[in-house]
Amino acid sequence: MDSYPTRRPTDATYLDDDVDYPTELLNLPWVDPHNHAHTLSWSDREQYALTGCRSMLMVASGYHWTPYKPVEADDVRFLWDDAINRRAAIERNHFFEAKLGLGIHTGVRITNPDDLLDAMTEYAALDEVVAIGETGVTPGQQVEAWSLDEQRAVVEGQMAVAADHDLPVLLHTPNTTNEALPDYRPELGTPGYEKNGSLAQEPVMEGENPALDAVKVDVQAARDAGLPEERVVASHADPNNTDYLMEETDCYLSYTIGHSWLVGVTPEDVADAVETYGPERIMIDTDCANVLRTDPLAVKRAMLELYRLGVSVDDIRTVVFENPRDVFGFDA
Ligand SMILES: [Zn+2]
Repeated sequence: MDSYPTRRPTDATYLDDDVDYPTELLNLPWVDPHNHAHTLSWSDREQYALTGCRSMLMVASGYHWTPYKPVEADDVRFLWDDAINRRAAIERNHFFEAKLGLGIHTGVRITNPDDLLDAMTEYAALDEVVAIGETGVTPGQQVEAWSLDEQRAVVEGQMAVAADHDLPVLLHTPNTTNEALPDYRPELGTPGYEKNGSLAQEPVMEGENPALDAVKVDVQAARDAGLPEERVVASHADPNNTDYLMEETDCYLSYTIGHSWLVGVTPEDVADAVETYGPERIMIDTDCANVLRTDPLAVKRAMLELYRLGVSVDDIRTVVFENPRDVFGFDA
Protein backbone atom coordinates (compact mmCIF):
# COMPACT_ATOMS: atom_id res chain seq x y z
CA MET A 1 0.00 0.00 0.00
CA ASP A 2 2.68 2.46 0.97
CA SER A 3 5.35 1.54 -1.54
CA TYR A 4 4.61 4.29 -4.10
CA PRO A 5 6.14 7.73 -3.63
CA THR A 6 3.13 9.31 -5.36
CA ARG A 7 1.71 12.32 -3.52
CA ARG A 8 -1.56 10.47 -2.92
CA PRO A 9 -2.69 6.91 -3.81
CA THR A 10 -3.12 6.12 -7.51
CA ASP A 11 -4.59 3.09 -9.24
CA ALA A 12 -1.21 1.42 -8.87
CA THR A 13 -1.56 1.52 -5.09
CA TYR A 14 -4.59 -0.79 -5.22
CA LEU A 15 -3.44 -3.27 -7.86
CA ASP A 16 -3.91 -6.96 -7.25
CA ASP A 17 -0.48 -8.59 -7.62
CA ASP A 18 -1.90 -12.03 -8.32
CA VAL A 19 -3.15 -11.57 -11.88
CA ASP A 20 -1.31 -13.69 -14.48
CA TYR A 21 -1.45 -12.61 -18.08
CA PRO A 22 -1.25 -15.18 -20.89
CA THR A 23 2.10 -14.06 -22.30
CA GLU A 24 2.43 -17.40 -24.12
CA LEU A 25 -0.34 -16.25 -26.46
CA LEU A 26 1.96 -13.56 -27.81
CA ASN A 27 4.01 -16.09 -29.70
CA LEU A 28 1.78 -19.12 -29.84
CA PRO A 29 2.01 -20.65 -33.33
CA TRP A 30 -1.18 -20.83 -35.37
CA VAL A 31 -2.47 -22.36 -38.58
CA ASP A 32 -4.91 -20.86 -41.10
CA PRO A 33 -6.98 -23.72 -42.53
CA HIS A 34 -8.78 -21.60 -45.13
CA ASN A 35 -7.46 -18.66 -47.07
CA HIS A 36 -6.65 -17.53 -50.58
CA ALA A 37 -3.27 -16.05 -49.69
CA HIS A 38 -1.90 -16.69 -53.18
CA THR A 39 -4.28 -13.92 -54.35
CA LEU A 40 -3.06 -11.45 -51.71
CA SER A 41 -0.14 -9.06 -51.85
CA TRP A 42 3.34 -9.90 -50.58
CA SER A 43 2.80 -7.49 -47.69
CA ASP A 44 -0.47 -9.16 -46.72
CA ARG A 45 1.27 -12.53 -46.61
CA GLU A 46 4.04 -11.01 -44.55
CA GLN A 47 1.46 -10.30 -41.83
CA TYR A 48 0.90 -14.04 -41.47
CA ALA A 49 4.62 -14.67 -41.06
CA LEU A 50 5.16 -11.85 -38.59
CA THR A 51 2.38 -13.01 -36.29
CA GLY A 52 3.38 -16.65 -36.01
CA CYS A 53 1.36 -18.41 -38.68
CA ARG A 54 3.19 -21.72 -39.21
CA SER A 55 1.03 -23.29 -41.91
CA MET A 56 -1.83 -22.38 -44.18
CA LEU A 57 -4.24 -23.98 -46.61
CA MET A 58 -4.39 -21.86 -49.77
CA VAL A 59 -7.63 -22.66 -51.53
CA ALA A 60 -7.93 -22.52 -55.32
CA SER A 61 -11.48 -23.09 -56.46
CA GLY A 62 -13.57 -19.93 -56.59
CA TYR A 63 -15.33 -18.38 -59.55
CA HIS A 64 -14.26 -14.99 -58.17
CA TRP A 65 -11.04 -15.41 -60.13
CA THR A 66 -12.31 -16.86 -63.41
CA PRO A 67 -12.80 -14.03 -65.91
CA TYR A 68 -15.10 -15.72 -68.46
CA LYS A 69 -18.82 -16.17 -68.04
CA PRO A 70 -20.20 -18.82 -68.28
CA VAL A 71 -17.40 -20.69 -66.52
CA GLU A 72 -15.83 -23.75 -68.11
CA ALA A 73 -13.77 -26.53 -66.56
CA ASP A 74 -10.53 -25.18 -68.01
CA ASP A 75 -11.09 -21.83 -66.30
CA VAL A 76 -11.10 -23.57 -62.91
CA ARG A 77 -8.18 -25.76 -63.95
CA PHE A 78 -6.22 -22.57 -64.55
CA LEU A 79 -6.83 -21.57 -60.92
CA TRP A 80 -5.46 -24.90 -59.72
CA ASP A 81 -2.41 -24.59 -61.96
CA ASP A 82 -1.78 -20.99 -60.93
CA ALA A 83 -1.75 -22.00 -57.26
CA ILE A 84 0.59 -24.93 -57.96
CA ASN A 85 2.85 -22.59 -59.92
CA ARG A 86 3.20 -20.05 -57.11
CA ARG A 87 3.06 -22.12 -53.93
CA ALA A 88 6.77 -22.84 -53.47
CA ALA A 89 7.75 -19.20 -54.08
CA ILE A 90 5.36 -18.17 -51.31
CA GLU A 91 6.99 -20.61 -48.88
CA ARG A 92 10.44 -19.45 -49.98
CA ASN A 93 9.50 -15.83 -49.31
CA HIS A 94 7.70 -16.15 -46.00
CA PHE A 95 8.94 -19.42 -44.43
CA PHE A 96 5.50 -20.66 -43.33
CA GLU A 97 4.22 -23.91 -44.77
CA ALA A 98 1.77 -23.27 -47.62
CA LYS A 99 -0.27 -26.21 -48.87
CA LEU A 100 -3.15 -26.33 -51.35
CA GLY A 101 -6.84 -27.07 -51.39
CA LEU A 102 -8.19 -27.62 -54.90
CA GLY A 103 -11.88 -27.80 -55.56
CA ILE A 104 -14.91 -27.08 -57.67
CA HIS A 105 -16.85 -24.16 -56.19
CA THR A 106 -20.60 -24.19 -56.73
CA GLY A 107 -21.18 -20.45 -56.58
CA VAL A 108 -21.39 -20.44 -60.35
CA ARG A 109 -22.46 -23.20 -62.73
CA ILE A 110 -19.57 -24.87 -64.57
CA THR A 111 -20.52 -26.07 -68.01
CA ASN A 112 -18.53 -29.34 -68.05
CA PRO A 113 -17.74 -30.32 -64.45
CA ASP A 114 -16.99 -33.97 -65.28
CA ASP A 115 -13.80 -32.86 -67.03
CA LEU A 116 -12.67 -31.33 -63.75
CA LEU A 117 -13.62 -34.36 -61.69
CA ASP A 118 -11.65 -36.57 -64.09
CA ALA A 119 -8.58 -34.36 -63.77
CA MET A 120 -8.91 -33.97 -60.01
CA THR A 121 -7.73 -37.50 -59.27
CA GLU A 122 -4.22 -36.74 -60.51
CA TYR A 123 -4.08 -33.42 -58.69
CA ALA A 124 -5.23 -35.06 -55.46
CA ALA A 125 -2.20 -37.34 -55.56
CA LEU A 126 0.25 -34.40 -55.35
CA ASP A 127 2.10 -33.92 -52.06
CA GLU A 128 1.24 -30.22 -51.90
CA VAL A 129 -2.50 -30.89 -52.21
CA VAL A 130 -3.71 -31.61 -48.68
CA ALA A 131 -7.45 -30.99 -49.09
CA ILE A 132 -10.29 -30.95 -51.61
CA GLY A 133 -12.39 -27.79 -51.63
CA GLU A 134 -13.73 -25.37 -50.95
CA THR A 135 -16.98 -26.81 -52.17
CA GLY A 136 -20.46 -27.77 -50.99
CA VAL A 137 -23.90 -27.00 -52.40
CA THR A 138 -24.89 -23.34 -52.55
CA PRO A 139 -28.49 -22.08 -52.46
CA GLY A 140 -27.92 -19.51 -55.21
CA GLN A 141 -25.40 -18.92 -58.02
CA GLN A 142 -23.88 -16.08 -59.99
CA VAL A 143 -24.28 -15.92 -63.80
CA GLU A 144 -26.15 -19.22 -64.26
CA ALA A 145 -28.21 -21.22 -61.82
CA TRP A 146 -27.03 -24.77 -61.05
CA SER A 147 -29.71 -27.26 -60.07
CA LEU A 148 -29.41 -28.81 -56.64
CA ASP A 149 -29.12 -32.32 -58.12
CA GLU A 150 -26.26 -31.30 -60.40
CA GLN A 151 -24.45 -29.45 -57.62
CA ARG A 152 -24.84 -32.38 -55.30
CA ALA A 153 -23.36 -34.74 -57.89
CA VAL A 154 -20.32 -32.47 -58.28
CA VAL A 155 -19.86 -32.21 -54.51
CA GLU A 156 -20.25 -35.95 -54.00
CA GLY A 157 -17.80 -36.59 -56.85
CA GLN A 158 -15.19 -34.47 -55.12
CA MET A 159 -15.84 -36.23 -51.84
CA ALA A 160 -15.25 -39.57 -53.55
CA VAL A 161 -11.88 -38.31 -54.82
CA ALA A 162 -11.07 -37.14 -51.29
CA ALA A 163 -12.06 -40.50 -49.82
CA ASP A 164 -9.85 -42.31 -52.37
CA HIS A 165 -6.85 -40.16 -51.43
CA ASP A 166 -7.60 -39.93 -47.71
CA LEU A 167 -7.90 -36.15 -47.93
CA PRO A 168 -10.19 -33.87 -45.91
CA VAL A 169 -12.84 -31.79 -47.68
CA LEU A 170 -13.29 -28.10 -46.92
CA LEU A 171 -16.93 -27.00 -47.13
CA HIS A 172 -18.03 -23.43 -47.67
CA THR A 173 -21.20 -23.67 -45.63
CA PRO A 174 -23.47 -20.79 -46.63
CA ASN A 175 -23.70 -17.84 -44.25
CA THR A 176 -26.44 -15.33 -44.00
CA THR A 177 -25.12 -11.81 -44.55
CA ASN A 178 -24.65 -9.62 -41.48
CA GLU A 179 -28.03 -8.00 -40.81
CA ALA A 180 -26.35 -4.88 -39.48
CA LEU A 181 -24.93 -4.06 -42.93
CA PRO A 182 -26.29 -0.77 -44.26
CA ASP A 183 -28.57 -0.59 -47.30
CA TYR A 184 -26.24 0.41 -50.10
CA ARG A 185 -27.26 1.65 -53.54
CA PRO A 186 -28.13 -1.55 -55.44
CA GLU A 187 -25.95 -0.59 -58.41
CA LEU A 188 -22.89 -0.58 -56.11
CA GLY A 189 -23.42 -4.02 -54.65
CA THR A 190 -21.69 -4.53 -51.30
CA PRO A 191 -18.63 -2.28 -50.95
CA GLY A 192 -15.72 -4.43 -49.85
CA TYR A 193 -16.77 -7.42 -51.93
CA GLU A 194 -15.89 -7.51 -55.65
CA LYS A 195 -18.98 -9.27 -56.86
CA ASN A 196 -21.48 -8.13 -59.44
CA GLY A 197 -24.82 -8.36 -57.65
CA SER A 198 -26.70 -7.97 -60.92
CA LEU A 199 -25.48 -11.44 -61.98
CA ALA A 200 -27.08 -13.15 -58.98
CA GLN A 201 -29.55 -15.84 -60.06
CA GLU A 202 -32.80 -16.98 -58.49
CA PRO A 203 -32.05 -19.42 -55.63
CA VAL A 204 -32.27 -23.13 -56.39
CA MET A 205 -33.03 -24.00 -52.77
CA GLU A 206 -36.15 -22.71 -51.10
CA GLY A 207 -37.51 -23.29 -47.62
CA GLU A 208 -37.09 -21.61 -44.28
CA ASN A 209 -33.39 -22.23 -43.81
CA PRO A 210 -31.65 -23.01 -47.10
CA ALA A 211 -28.23 -22.19 -45.59
CA LEU A 212 -28.67 -25.01 -43.07
CA ASP A 213 -30.33 -27.35 -45.57
CA ALA A 214 -27.27 -26.95 -47.83
CA VAL A 215 -24.96 -28.26 -45.07
CA LYS A 216 -27.24 -31.21 -44.50
CA VAL A 217 -27.07 -32.09 -48.20
CA ASP A 218 -23.27 -31.90 -48.03
CA VAL A 219 -23.05 -34.17 -45.01
CA GLN A 220 -25.31 -36.73 -46.70
CA ALA A 221 -23.13 -36.50 -49.81
CA ALA A 222 -20.06 -37.28 -47.68
CA ARG A 223 -21.81 -40.32 -46.22
CA ASP A 224 -22.82 -41.49 -49.70
CA ALA A 225 -19.27 -40.98 -51.02
CA GLY A 226 -17.75 -43.01 -48.18
CA LEU A 227 -15.92 -39.99 -46.76
CA PRO A 228 -15.80 -40.17 -42.95
CA GLU A 229 -17.47 -37.16 -41.31
CA GLU A 230 -14.32 -36.39 -39.34
CA ARG A 231 -12.66 -35.69 -42.71
CA VAL A 232 -15.15 -32.90 -43.39
CA VAL A 233 -14.32 -29.36 -42.24
CA ALA A 234 -17.30 -27.01 -42.39
CA SER A 235 -15.78 -23.59 -42.91
CA HIS A 236 -17.98 -20.52 -42.37
CA ALA A 237 -19.51 -22.31 -39.39
CA ASP A 238 -21.94 -19.97 -37.67
CA PRO A 239 -24.72 -19.96 -35.07
CA ASN A 240 -27.12 -21.15 -37.79
CA ASN A 241 -25.34 -24.49 -38.30
CA THR A 242 -23.27 -25.06 -35.14
CA ASP A 243 -25.85 -27.08 -33.19
CA TYR A 244 -26.60 -29.34 -36.15
CA LEU A 245 -22.94 -29.96 -36.98
CA MET A 246 -21.97 -30.56 -33.37
CA GLU A 247 -24.92 -32.68 -32.33
CA GLU A 248 -25.70 -34.68 -35.45
CA THR A 249 -22.33 -35.08 -37.20
CA ASP A 250 -18.66 -35.71 -36.48
CA CYS A 251 -17.53 -32.88 -38.79
CA TYR A 252 -15.06 -30.18 -37.79
CA LEU A 253 -16.29 -26.58 -37.67
CA SER A 254 -14.08 -23.72 -38.82
CA TYR A 255 -15.30 -20.24 -37.95
CA THR A 256 -14.36 -17.65 -40.57
CA ILE A 257 -13.55 -14.37 -38.87
CA GLY A 258 -11.45 -12.61 -41.51
CA HIS A 259 -14.53 -10.81 -42.85
CA SER A 260 -16.77 -10.50 -39.82
CA TRP A 261 -18.15 -7.24 -41.19
CA LEU A 262 -19.81 -9.24 -44.00
CA VAL A 263 -20.94 -12.48 -42.36
CA GLY A 264 -21.27 -11.35 -38.76
CA VAL A 265 -19.24 -14.23 -37.26
CA THR A 266 -16.90 -13.06 -34.49
CA PRO A 267 -14.61 -14.50 -31.80
CA GLU A 268 -17.63 -14.35 -29.48
CA ASP A 269 -19.34 -17.04 -31.58
CA VAL A 270 -16.18 -19.14 -31.32
CA ALA A 271 -16.01 -18.67 -27.55
CA ASP A 272 -19.68 -19.67 -27.23
CA ALA A 273 -19.07 -22.81 -29.29
CA VAL A 274 -15.99 -23.77 -27.24
CA GLU A 275 -17.90 -23.23 -24.03
CA THR A 276 -20.86 -25.32 -25.17
CA TYR A 277 -19.12 -28.12 -27.04
CA GLY A 278 -15.44 -28.05 -26.08
CA PRO A 279 -12.55 -27.23 -28.43
CA GLU A 280 -12.01 -30.69 -29.95
CA ARG A 281 -13.72 -30.06 -33.32
CA ILE A 282 -13.32 -26.30 -33.63
CA MET A 283 -10.94 -24.22 -35.79
CA ILE A 284 -10.73 -20.58 -36.92
CA ASP A 285 -9.82 -19.34 -40.40
CA THR A 286 -9.28 -15.99 -42.10
CA ASP A 287 -10.62 -16.79 -45.61
CA CYS A 288 -8.51 -13.83 -46.70
CA ALA A 289 -8.77 -13.07 -50.41
CA ASN A 290 -8.04 -10.17 -52.71
CA VAL A 291 -11.69 -9.81 -53.77
CA LEU A 292 -12.85 -9.08 -50.23
CA ARG A 293 -12.08 -6.66 -47.45
CA THR A 294 -10.32 -9.22 -45.23
CA ASP A 295 -7.90 -9.23 -42.34
CA PRO A 296 -4.79 -11.45 -42.30
CA LEU A 297 -4.45 -10.70 -38.56
CA ALA A 298 -7.93 -11.93 -37.68
CA VAL A 299 -6.82 -15.23 -36.15
CA LYS A 300 -4.00 -13.64 -34.18
CA ARG A 301 -6.41 -11.01 -32.82
CA ALA A 302 -8.95 -13.70 -32.02
CA MET A 303 -6.39 -15.61 -29.95
CA LEU A 304 -6.19 -12.67 -27.54
CA GLU A 305 -9.91 -12.00 -27.69
CA LEU A 306 -10.82 -15.62 -26.92
CA TYR A 307 -8.74 -15.41 -23.76
CA ARG A 308 -10.54 -12.22 -22.72
CA LEU A 309 -13.82 -14.02 -23.34
CA GLY A 310 -12.83 -16.77 -20.93
CA VAL A 311 -11.32 -19.48 -23.13
CA SER A 312 -8.21 -21.15 -21.66
CA VAL A 313 -4.79 -20.96 -23.31
CA ASP A 314 -4.84 -24.74 -23.81
CA ASP A 315 -8.20 -24.60 -25.58
CA ILE A 316 -7.04 -21.68 -27.74
CA ARG A 317 -3.98 -23.71 -28.76
CA THR A 318 -6.22 -26.65 -29.65
CA VAL A 319 -8.44 -24.44 -31.82
CA VAL A 320 -5.87 -22.31 -33.65
CA PHE A 321 -3.03 -24.81 -33.93
CA GLU A 322 -3.52 -28.47 -33.06
CA ASN A 323 -6.85 -29.13 -34.76
CA PRO A 324 -5.98 -27.67 -38.17
CA ARG A 325 -2.46 -29.15 -37.99
CA ASP A 326 -3.80 -32.63 -37.32
CA VAL A 327 -6.74 -32.62 -39.73
CA PHE A 328 -4.79 -31.29 -42.72
CA GLY A 329 -1.51 -33.04 -41.83
CA PHE A 330 0.64 -29.90 -41.68
CA ASP A 331 4.23 -30.26 -40.52
CA ALA A 332 3.80 -27.15 -38.28
ZN1 LIG B 1 -12.72 -19.09 -49.25
